[in-house]
Amino acid sequence: MPETQRASGAAARIVNCPACGKPVEWVAENRHRPFCSARCKGLDLGAWASDQYRVAAKDEPKPDELGE
Ligand SMILES: [Zn+2]
Repeated sequence: MPETQRASGAAARIVNCPACGKPVEWVAENRHRPFCSARCKGLDLGAWASDQYRVAAKDEPKPDELGE
């Protein structure tokens, strides 16, 4: 790799928001990184939580396995 880019320190890294895909500047002042906003951050956390709840939900026992 001959081309080595030396960062001057001013260039911000750009990442894509995991929730909506928008480009987000990875800077210290962005508290929600890698998300673009608090809303996207909340959305992702909400999806994660609901998934956990679904996994934790009990399966009802099948009645047709009782008695023969
Ligand atoms: Zn977003």
